[in-house]
Amino acid sequence: MVKLNSKIPSGPLAEKWTNFKASQNLVNPANKRKLDIIVVGTGLAGASAAATLGELGFNVKSFCYQDSPRRAHSIAAQGGINAAKNYQNDGDSIYRLFYDTIKGGDYRAREANVYRLAEVSNNIIDQCVAQGVPFARDYGGYLVNRSFGGAQVSRTFYAKGQTGQQLLLGAYGSLLRQIKLGTVKIYPRTEMHDLVVIDGKARGIITRDLVNGKIEKHFAHAVVLATGGYGNTYFLSTMAMGANVSAAWQSYKRGAFFGNPCYVQIHPTCIPVHGDYQSKLTLMSESLRNDGRIWVPKKKEDAEKVQKGQLNPASIPEAERDYYLERRYPAFGNLVPRDVASRAAKERCDLGFGVGSTGLAVYLDFKDAIERQGKKVIEEKYGNLFQMYEKITDQNPYEVPMMIYPAIHYAMGGIWVDYELMTSIPGLFAIGEANFSDHGANRLGASALMQGLADGYFVIPYTIQNYLAKEIHSPRMSTDLKEFQDAEKNVRDKMNTLLSIQGKETVDSFHKQLGKIMWDHVGMARNKEGLKKAIEQIRALRIEFWSNVKVPGSIDELNQELEKAGRVADFLEIGELIARDALQREESCGGHFREEYQTPEGEALRNDDQFSFVAAWEYGGHDKEPILHKEDLNFEFIEVKQRNYK
Ligand SMILES: Cc1cc2nc3c(=O)[nH]c(=O)nc-3n(C[C@H](O)[C@H](O)[C@H](O)COP(=O)(O)OP(=O)(O)OC[C@H]3O[C@@H](n4cnc5c(N)ncnc54)[C@H](O)[C@@H]3O)c2cc1C
Repeated sequence: MVKLNSKIPSGPLAEKWTNFKASQNLVNPANKRKLDIIVVGTGLAGASAAATLGELGFNVKSFCYQDSPRRAHSIAAQGGINAAKNYQNDGDSIYRLFYDTIKGGDYRAREANVYRLAEVSNNIIDQCVAQGVPFARDYGGYLVNRSFGGAQVSRTFYAKGQTGQQLLLGAYGSLLRQIKLGTVKIYPRTEMHDLVVIDGKARGIITRDLVNGKIEKHFAHAVVLATGGYGNTYFLSTMAMGANVSAAWQSYKRGAFFGNPCYVQIHPTCIPVHGDYQSKLTLMSESLRNDGRIWVPKKKEDAEKVQKGQLNPASIPEAERDYYLERRYPAFGNLVPRDVASRAAKERCDLGFGVGSTGLAVYLDFKDAIERQGKKVIEEKYGNLFQMYEKITDQNPYEVPMMIYPAIHYAMGGIWVDYELMTSIPGLFAIGEANFSDHGANRLGASALMQGLADGYFVIPYTIQNYLAKEIHSPRMSTDLKEFQDAEKNVRDKMNTLLSIQGKETVDSFHKQLGKIMWDHVGMARNKEGLKKAIEQIRALRIEFWSNVKVPGSIDELNQELEKAGRVADFLEIGELIARDALQREESCGGHFREEYQTPEGEALRNDDQFSFVAAWEYGGHDKEPILHKEDLNFEFIEVKQRNYK
């Protein structure tokens, strides 16, 4: 049995990171120039890592499939980024951010990683301010904060509803500087298709140029994956359409363990699904829960009338409205964590109190906030989000309450990494949403940007040196080596097979079917029977895909159907692993809600005796069962309890 070594440094929690840095191996400047690092991904995690590693003096190759690094999915992030600055003097601290994150993740994350994240959060804000990121400020020029779910303090820094974009422009600026200095070379519109492992170590990747179809081999002394999350397995999600799991999945098949795949986040405030031909869902930022109040009618008759368009919600009197989050969770109210808010919305809708034409929506109402603060203030805070809502729904949210419903949004699970962010393949690292590390079973709002930038600017630049210090005698390898050639052949074979099937169904049609299976059985509520059914259905769909998919065109040209086909083939595999992981985890925790395991009040019921572990899955081979390894979670510094937001 493989013993997972999380390499958590010894010593008191608050000193672990400092001690690690003081005693780790470093690479001297002359040797840095001899070492090559590949960074796949240019979102906040990848761009910040590539820029920083370049600045340190390594030779960096940076890859992304978009036409420009600054179009990575991170650009979509709206609401903000957390940091424990305590500028509001409202009781925040590094410890409190650490505690909130562990508790928010339902005690399923590593203490040491999360503490480090909270610790470096403050550096991120300083770094980004120095880059000129236009964070919101008050009249006097001081940075302001707002609140996000799962916290009783205001610690979220933001740039209107465009925080991700502004942070990415900052990271991109740093990246450009390194490109000019010659330490970073970028490869836009280039997709990784396989990882090359030589003598047990990651030594490079195989890529395809998405414009001319050229397949290329790249060597490096270390490879960093910053390739984002796998939420699009569910087809409909708030993620960018191109977001995919393929790079992570190729690495899994080469020996990198996959951590906690069943932990996916369902965000409570998204514009509800409105038809069968939809391919994308839109997030309404969690920041809106600072001022918006969530409710449904108290009476089923009212809900039914609203659904049929016979009753205007604005005419339902206060006493007939059920502000169910404020009722159930008075201490946190509308700012309970996402998993809790999503389940509470589902509970109301399942019982027939939902609104909108499908009954699968709840109201997010700004009436009180507008009365209290004035329309102008609300417009200043959320103007672009309100505008986006109106463009999509044709309803004016200043006048009628917004309608929202939960949707797939983020993956807490990801490639398993140790404290140094190294995967189970030496020399392969994973950062940002691509790894499983910091959010346990549920991520708190505004913490993904924090984690991506913490990993990229402040963690990997140190920890990768601990590995590379032992690589200074390794010369650059030829990409003519057998391992490179074999990997290239694999890539070509897979694409040729996809092109040769010439079946009757489109790639999207398979993706949609997979998404429905996932949402129905591996979504907000899961149970044993449904999960078993999902596994069978996904397997059958996979067989059908490989015999009946239609992919036009050829390898040697721009071919977006071929790109999609490769990604959907991988979604069809990870979908099964997500369901399997959910099946083995016979407890409810965070975003993973097993109907069999709940408290009498319908809250998630953990089983700490048996499931206080990270599930790290090892690829077992084609059509073979994957192997489950368990990394025990030891909580030395906080008391593990039932989460309580009441
Ligand atoms: C609508 C929306 C709003 C959000 N708002 C917030 C928020 O307010 N606060 C917050 O903290 N979080 C937010 N999040 C979450 C957050 O945006 C993401 O978790 C985070 O940006 C992920 O960053 P990343 O760098 O890990 O990956 P990404 O930004 O997803 O970047 C992935 C990169 O990998 C590249 N890539 C992937 N596969 C390959 C491949 N095979 N070959 C080559 N390149 C590849 C892509 O080209 C891209 O450059 C939001 C998410 C969504 C969907």
